[in-house]
Amino acid sequence: MYAIVNASEILQIKDNGKPRSGKEMSELNLITDHTIVIDKEKIIDILPEKELKNKYPNIKLIDAQYNLVMPGLCDSHTHLVFGGSRHVEFEMRASGIDYMEIHRKGGGIQSSVNATRKISEEKLYRTSLKRLKDLFKYGTTSVEIKSGYGLDLETEMKQLKVANKLKDLNPDIKTTFLGAHSKPEEFDTHTEFIEYLNKKVLPVIADEGLADFIDIFCEKGVFSPDDARKHLNEGKKYGLIPKLHADELAYSKAAEVASEVGAISADHLLCASEDALSSMKENNVIATLLPATLYNLAKKEYPKARLMIDSIKLPVALASDFNPGSCYCENLFLTMHIACQYMKMTPAEVIVATTINGAYAMGLEKDCGSIQIGKNADILIIDAPNYQYLPYHFGINPVKKVIKRGVVLQ
Ligand SMILES: [Zn+2]
Repeated sequence: MYAIVNASEILQIKDNGKPRSGKEMSELNLITDHTIVIDKEKIIDILPEKELKNKYPNIKLIDAQYNLVMPGLCDSHTHLVFGGSRHVEFEMRASGIDYMEIHRKGGGIQSSVNATRKISEEKLYRTSLKRLKDLFKYGTTSVEIKSGYGLDLETEMKQLKVANKLKDLNPDIKTTFLGAHSKPEEFDTHTEFIEYLNKKVLPVIADEGLADFIDIFCEKGVFSPDDARKHLNEGKKYGLIPKLHADELAYSKAAEVASEVGAISADHLLCASEDALSSMKENNVIATLLPATLYNLAKKEYPKARLMIDSIKLPVALASDFNPGSCYCENLFLTMHIACQYMKMTPAEVIVATTINGAYAMGLEKDCGSIQIGKNADILIIDAPNYQYLPYHFGINPVKKVIKRGVVLQ
């Protein structure tokens, strides 16, 4: 048992029983002069610091040295398990070639597919484990991990097995079957490929209990809304909860499908219609925004976060989209900065969006995303005097200490 003392501010970001939206997205439940008591994996008490000695004499102390204390970050959209690297494409993009053009030339996702099919499960595990450890360094204590670089039974299984094995290091991982990420070269049409996934891959993935969610890249020129409907509804039969890559590059009516199938979240949403966003609100679909991807693709437009938060009152989560192609960046603090700069979210909103709302977007809200009695002791000590510093002092890693389920990692 131990207590964290001398925090400049503690951001509790309490769970209100549903993902935060509208004005609640600016409420951090900030307290000062308080201490957090941790026993084994859990937070067991939060009390004024002056009462600590009486109630818990001789308790071990961790000194926050007048730094900020906040919940561990919850990254609800990553592609962390992959083979190979796409640094050559970065170089191509830097010389002005468009992402979709690289995709059409057989680069893009297909090149990661080729590399992921080739790599052994053992090597895939070792490289992914290193990435997961790097996420801890950047304060990410719970994470969603997608497949989608296999696009065949064997490799999708390999990716998901690796993602599940990573739970030995971090139990707060959720896994997503994203077989419908891209059509592999060996299939002629997207519809044929969806048939294959539904008949040959999905049943095995589901039987082996390898995934919590099912996801699809629903986008003009990739999978259609009809493909998405068919595939996600099939996944639901096996108990998988839908998520979507929705309207990322063009208006593709994917956000509409998210509402229709009862998705937990629709992600990206740059080109979603206002009507579709309103319908997401009615159907409790979380809007997960991934601005670091747009930043990396040097896009000029960003999702309309102000419209979502102020008018539609959609709960907004922010995630990294960590992947080898469009966003090779695991630093959610940088994502927060980009969200403030280009989507005009406030510092408080970006923190809510990467903690409690991120936890909701993964179904981990019971244990993660806030500093409350009974929850996991997933806590960060941040080298900053106040919460505004998180997006303000950008391009650095401000994490001083990471506590994961009560274990002090660094
Ligand atoms: Zn993605």
